[in-house]
Amino acid sequence: MALIVQKFGGSSVANAERVMNVARIVTETYAKGNDVVVVVSAQGDTTDDLIAKAAEISAKPSKREMDQLLAAGEQISIALLSMAIEKLGFPVCSLLGWQAGFSTNSVYGSARIKKINTERIKVELSRKNIVVVAGFQGINRYDDITTLGRGGSDTSAVAIAAAMHADRCQIFTDVEGVYTADPRKVKNAVKLSEITYDEMLELATLGAQVLNNRSVEMAKKYDVVLEVLSSMTNAPGTIVKESVKMEKMLVRGVTKDVNVARISIIGVPNVPGIAYKIFGKLAAENINVDIILQSVGRNDTKDITFTVSADNCEKTLEVLRGLELTAGLKIEYDDQNVAKVSAVGAGMETHPGVAASMFKALFEADINIQMISTSEIKISVLIDKADADKAVAAIHDAFIPDSKD
Ligand code: ASP
Ligand code: MG
Repeated sequence: MALIVQKFGGSSVANAERVMNVARIVTETYAKGNDVVVVVSAQGDTTDDLIAKAAEISAKPSKREMDQLLAAGEQISIALLSMAIEKLGFPVCSLLGWQAGFSTNSVYGSARIKKINTERIKVELSRKNIVVVAGFQGINRYDDITTLGRGGSDTSAVAIAAAMHADRCQIFTDVEGVYTADPRKVKNAVKLSEITYDEMLELATLGAQVLNNRSVEMAKKYDVVLEVLSSMTNAPGTIVKESVKMEKMLVRGVTKDVNVARISIIGVPNVPGIAYKIFGKLAAENINVDIILQSVGRNDTKDITFTVSADNCEKTLEVLRGLELTAGLKIEYDDQNVAKVSAVGAGMETHPGVAASMFKALFEADINIQMISTSEIKISVLIDKADADKAVAAIHDAFIPDSKD
């Protein structure tokens, strides 16, 4: 007998029919003799709808009340799924985040899990119940409801799997696994049978929508092997783990991020300490800077260009204009027309020439590169937003030509 954690995302429980479908998957797992803990998200677009409802009332609701509101979405899902499981004749017990023992810090809207007291879950399992837990939520030290940030149910599931040393943690979604590129855009994208935590983390952070990046971080930290698979089909999914057999694929994922802004500060004094002062201030304001490029100084000045997420562009400009150092300087920005396209693959680390092949593919597709950044397992380029899909396809074709995993 094994302990299996199964997580179902919002699309998997979007309506009554899908809830019944999930109930069947869960009860089949249970009927094989396993202990089953199920984590669910809010149905379909419920969370977005709740956010819209709040906006009808107030442009600036307090974060505490926002969490009180958003946590309701998952409460609906656990009750409905439990009713569906009851209807199929199986014993079940639903638990809200606090009932399942989730303690978090007090950062409403993006709380971090501090610990899980698994006593109640264990009691329910010992009573032979299927346990259905509300994802995305916990309770802080003031006994107030908190939420873990958008997409946080993945993290809830991984946290339970880690705390209870589950034998498997399955993340059910509406795609069949992790693909080499967005299969809706790139026709020859292929499903990967395995991917490393580090690759998945890069892809999740770069905007591939399959798994929440905090959940991957946590899975890596606690060595929880994840299986990403579809609740709609029976196909095998993608396993996410520490290392995979390297096969021939150097690049295992190509993604684009269009939520990017490029900012340039022109004519900064060519003296030490400038980068420290600028980026130190941005860090203090919690603004995440991505690609940074500094020109070689000429005539006692230099230019610094960097990217931030487009959502942070305005705030960044405000900070820069407020700095004594940059107050009089020319600042240029573009938050409309740029995109970042990245290729990710653990094999790059030990293989020269990947960057060159990527630049060749872009050259042959007649795409101009504005900025470049690299890490051990990732190469990113900043390009014209209009070229983003073409760039993804060109890079994908260069590295993953024959649609075979
Ligand atoms: N319902 C929440 C959201 O939509 C959490 C989740 O789906 O994981 O972000
Ligand atoms: Mg959701």
